[in-house]
Amino acid sequence: MHYGLDIGGTKIEITAFNSQFERVNSHRVATPKSDYQEFLTTLQRLIDQFDCEYDTFGTVGLGIPGVENQETGVLHISNIPCLHGQTLRADLAALISRPVAVENDARCFVFSEAFGGSANSYRRVFGTILGTGAGGGICIDKSIYSGASNLAGEWGHTSLPAKLQQKYQLPLHNCGCGLSGCYERYIAGPGIANLYHHFSQKEATTPEVIELMRAGDVEAVKTFDCFIDIAGAALASLVLIVNPDVFVMGGGVSNIQEIYERLPNAVTGHLFGNNTSPAILAPTFGDSGGVRGAAILGSQLENDQ
Ligand SMILES: [Zn+2]
Repeated sequence: MHYGLDIGGTKIEITAFNSQFERVNSHRVATPKSDYQEFLTTLQRLIDQFDCEYDTFGTVGLGIPGVENQETGVLHISNIPCLHGQTLRADLAALISRPVAVENDARCFVFSEAFGGSANSYRRVFGTILGTGAGGGICIDKSIYSGASNLAGEWGHTSLPAKLQQKYQLPLHNCGCGLSGCYERYIAGPGIANLYHHFSQKEATTPEVIELMRAGDVEAVKTFDCFIDIAGAALASLVLIVNPDVFVMGGGVSNIQEIYERLPNAVTGHLFGNNTSPAILAPTFGDSGGVRGAAILGSQLENDQ
């Protein structure tokens, strides 16, 4: 049995997978946010529960909303205060007497899609996740590429091109990361609502904007055209830097069907010469991709031993 744990800012979900990485069972609990010992014993209890239930000693992988320093094992996680600065991987491994894999949740998602998901038959996979934020990850030959200081795939915090800012007269938004003008602020889920407000001076949620666009509302259509243009520019720059075989979309925005019809042409439009967009795919595992990816990473530790 292989356990994946999705560590979220409000919930922790543990899912048990069989040897084919098919979901067997899941449990959810609230995330202890202020007490690290309580956090550790919560994970231990969840793992013990499955070990007892299935009379096994499952492998363990965690998907976290942050990154681990590769040299020191210290976590950088802003939305779960008790985890920030802790050596979770080593501390949990000691507590449950087995090795623990820890990886950024966006990378777990991309890894899952590259490993038996939408991008299974591609060598170079770039996952572009548009949810509350814009994140992602890179998988090459079914292995996560993290970069020199664990930053690879953080495309959402690169900047909107000046030509698009000028074309649409967009405001320069400050980003939660401390920079300004990041792609995330324009094309992640809340970014689409921001764009609609820019064009209409009206408030609407992103799902409402998409419904309005489908109904032919002029300002919502303009918003979605602008969104596609900006997302096309973002992915085109990733083509020039990473040159992936395929993009796999993730996050809530990946459920908007029109993306798959329009984004490839938009990417091609932002590339020079005869270069064209790689395939842009919907995810196979959706929201459960991260926990599945974490479980597969945990299972690989077992193989390493
Ligand atoms: Zn940013």
